[in-house]
Amino acid sequence: MSSTPHLLDRLATLTSIRDLELLEFSLLKTVHELFRPEQVTMIKYDESGDVKYTMRYGHDGSHESLKTKKDQPELQSVLRMTRRLNAPYHSRLANGNSISAFPVLDFQLLSVCLIMESRRQGASNDIKLIQGLLEIYRNFCHLIEDAQRDQLTGLLNRKTFDESIQRVIGMSSSLSTTYQNQEEDRRSHPDCDSSYWLGLIDIDNFKKINDTLGHIYGDEVLLLMSQIMRDSFRESDLLFRFGGEEFVVVTENLDMQGAKTAFERFRSKVEQFNFPQVGQVTISFGAVKVGSADVVHAVLDKADKALYFAKQNGKNRVCFYEELIQAGLIEPARAKLNQEVELF
Ligand code: GH3
Ligand code: MG
Ligand code: MG
Repeated sequence: MSSTPHLLDRLATLTSIRDLELLEFSLLKTVHELFRPEQVTMIKYDESGDVKYTMRYGHDGSHESLKTKKDQPELQSVLRMTRRLNAPYHSRLANGNSISAFPVLDFQLLSVCLIMESRRQGASNDIKLIQGLLEIYRNFCHLIEDAQRDQLTGLLNRKTFDESIQRVIGMSSSLSTTYQNQEEDRRSHPDCDSSYWLGLIDIDNFKKINDTLGHIYGDEVLLLMSQIMRDSFRESDLLFRFGGEEFVVVTENLDMQGAKTAFERFRSKVEQFNFPQVGQVTISFGAVKVGSADVVHAVLDKADKALYFAKQNGKNRVCFYEELIQAGLIEPARAKLNQEVELF
């Protein structure tokens, strides 16, 4: 049991992590250090089996993390077998290496599978240890998920926003992700660059709903609003409940027109929805492009200015910061470094 202290160290590290991507990386590193496989891969795929995310840790410590990956056909067939069996699957590759695949969990609309390729066949104790590690990973996924979500609506919460938007800003500066749909978009619209758009949403006259019908009806509107939001946007878009009756969507589109179409579609769906007892509810939108050089509070400040304009000009509308500036309807948001933005 000389590996026990080492294993405990690794477990202590694993269980101290609160970030999902870091947790996954640490899990692969732990499996690699304990079993020295040729490579260990975590694959996330959707219900039709399309691979959406691959993280791999190689025997020499090399690692890669990709939004999608066309893998070797042999690994694809291992993945198919594991999906069908929905149980651990062990086999041998054409190169003689043994392979073990473990279905891990269904999480955030994707299924997760861990595949380990080794020169030697895994002993049954090793398999049990891996399954134990995967159980810890599963539990932590659920804990992290709970901490990231708003209890009433199940949307991502405000706490998660800062971290996510920071990633989006990073991504918009290095559009090197290999999202398949991005590639397709670029091919069909070679003159357009992909960008991220943020929409700050505030329910119009929400206080009146609470005041006239009571908080329970107000809460029901918030819950139904989050469901309409989920129906309106793509799975890859990030949806947040930002605070009381405020929501944020971060979506990726080809250009401003694409963002407009998506935001207008949601605004119109809400306008047309018949909320029980309440009837019609409308929302106002302040929208802004998320640029690579942006700082979080500057993005929010711009969106808030556009939202304020929407509220002052009839509500139930989507206003884009860039258009308002171009038309001379608002003053540019002043950069306020290291300052919290007071939202509308
Ligand atoms: P405007 O069109 O200008 O946005 O008007 P409004 O009435 O929506 O704006 P205001 O900010 O005055 O009101 C927001 C209200 O949202 C006040 C608060 O009581 C209510 N609220 C905040 N959080 C919750 C919640 O979790 N549940 C319910 N039911 N109400 C909430
Ligand atoms: Mg408000
Ligand atoms: Mg409001």
